[in-house]
Amino acid sequence: MAPNAFTDSWEPCPSGELTGMVQRAQSVRRKSQTTSFTIVGVLVLTSCLSLLYLQFSTPSANAAGLACFEVQPLLGEYHQQKLTPAMSQRIDEHLAFCAHCREQLEAIQNGTVDACCGEAAACATP
Ligand SMILES: [Zn+2]
Repeated sequence: MAPNAFTDSWEPCPSGELTGMVQRAQSVRRKSQTTSFTIVGVLVLTSCLSLLYLQFSTPSANAAGLACFEVQPLLGEYHQQKLTPAMSQRIDEHLAFCAHCREQLEAIQNGTVDACCGEAAACATP
């Protein structure tokens, strides 16, 4: 290899400088990849958790040890304060978690649903 006047005039690269730069660049890239993997992981986890939460807040949910199908027939009596304090406490707790039953109770309170059974259609049919 013939000596090259141009390259000879350049300061030689300190040994390991280029390798170090490449390694730094790679580690930065690895770090940002890890970060985006973490972000994706957190997003996936969050959406899984919110799906789970949605699943448990649907009418089939079992909140405060009571299922909606157990709570809803009692909402009329709950509204009329005919339940035992322990039972209305459990329904209170259920209502705190369950938007569906809260809506049902509001309907009873507004008189849009007959309080006798919590089901307007069932009460209306003879
Ligand atoms: Zn409910």
